Amino acid sequence: MQSLYGVGRDYAITYDELEPYYYEAELEMGVMGPNGEEIVPSAPRQHPWPMTSMPYGPGDRKFTEVVKKLGYDNTPVPQARNSRPYDGRPQCCGNNNCMPICPIGAMYHGAYSVWKAEALGAKVIANAVVYSIETDASNRVVAMNYYDPDKRSFRVTAKTFVISGNGIETPKLLLLAANDRNPNGIANSSDQVGRNMMDHPGIGMSFQSAEPIWSGGGSVQMSSITNYRDGPFRADYSAIQIGYNNTAQNSRAGMKALSMGLVGRKLDEEIRRRTAHGVDMYVNHETLAHPDNRLVLSKTHRDALGIPHPEVTYDVGEYVRKSAKLSREHLKRIAEALGGTEIEMTSFFTPNNHITGGTIMGLDPKDSVVDGWLRTHDHANLFLATGAAMAAAGTVNSTLTMAALSLRAGDAILRDLKHV
Ligand code: SF4
Repeated sequence: MQSLYGVGRDYAITYDELEPYYYEAELEMGVMGPNGEEIVPSAPRQHPWPMTSMPYGPGDRKFTEVVKKLGYDNTPVPQARNSRPYDGRPQCCGNNNCMPICPIGAMYHGAYSVWKAEALGAKVIANAVVYSIETDASNRVVAMNYYDPDKRSFRVTAKTFVISGNGIETPKLLLLAANDRNPNGIANSSDQVGRNMMDHPGIGMSFQSAEPIWSGGGSVQMSSITNYRDGPFRADYSAIQIGYNNTAQNSRAGMKALSMGLVGRKLDEEIRRRTAHGVDMYVNHETLAHPDNRLVLSKTHRDALGIPHPEVTYDVGEYVRKSAKLSREHLKRIAEALGGTEIEMTSFFTPNNHITGGTIMGLDPKDSVVDGWLRTHDHANLFLATGAAMAAAGTVNSTLTMAALSLRAGDAILRDLKHV
């Protein structure tokens, strides 16, 4: 972002260095994507996606048709969902329950990889809350200490340590574990631990379309408008993802129909009508890394183990606010094209909780926490396999980049172990 557009921060690696790991992550998780279709803008790939996207349901078909006339390209989003039986898990059957959870296991989640690791000999200790990190005279990590739920303390030693808590817990632990040699926190000689936190905040809109659109056939998210994912405008304001939410509208329709005081057949008809015509959309915005968007340890609030809560200060910034003005115009235009009535748009930003940046990567140890292998600059045998290492947020979910970076860290760890 900094080299190309003069804003935000640069990664410590190039796209070409990461691309093989993206593919490895796609194979591991089982990602389907629009093989053979043109995506704007298109990231260069050496291999096709492991699986090809499933066909759209009626809602995505209609939406794509309508926005095409306005000049938008609505294309299938790659996602970790099986379009055919893959890795011992079944094909998606389109029940539209992907959030919060896929009941048949067609969608990937992290436990599948944990189970594979256990089968290879890994030991998982549940309910273990790490609270301190010991370092030696050369600042290598020698042990971590954790509490069980009864606050009994246990010590774990190793040659190599990997912290892969999320974007909140990873920086929190590093700050909490400050010791005599590292008084500002572990891996924090740069004072960047807990800073530069990012998400991709959204604006939502719902309305009733003039014609039935029948959201809800297939998975909850199948497509998105990709035209504004990149371009010279990013020097000025954030890139966006515009999305049609294919969530079945019956729940929202039912609540609205009940609030109208309807009963009997009239209630039934109104629920059907609203379910058929309901549309839900969103725009997500990339944010920039800013050191003031920051996590610190609370001085006043502690959890049941006596560990300070994290406290986060976060402002999406002018870069996002400027972009959001245009996002609202896009949304209005699309609602109008669908003959929208009862248009409701959120006046605030909704978080997506795909947290990046709190242990940011960089080439310079003075202003970053990890290098391009996710190795901490301060401790040669400590890796942070987390989205917090990402140097930019992008407009979409961070999972694939987190997984790709973590697999790359795995290669560095293997190389280290061969040299020990
Ligand atoms: S639609 Fe979603 S919940 Fe249903 S099978 Fe497919 S991935 Fe799972």
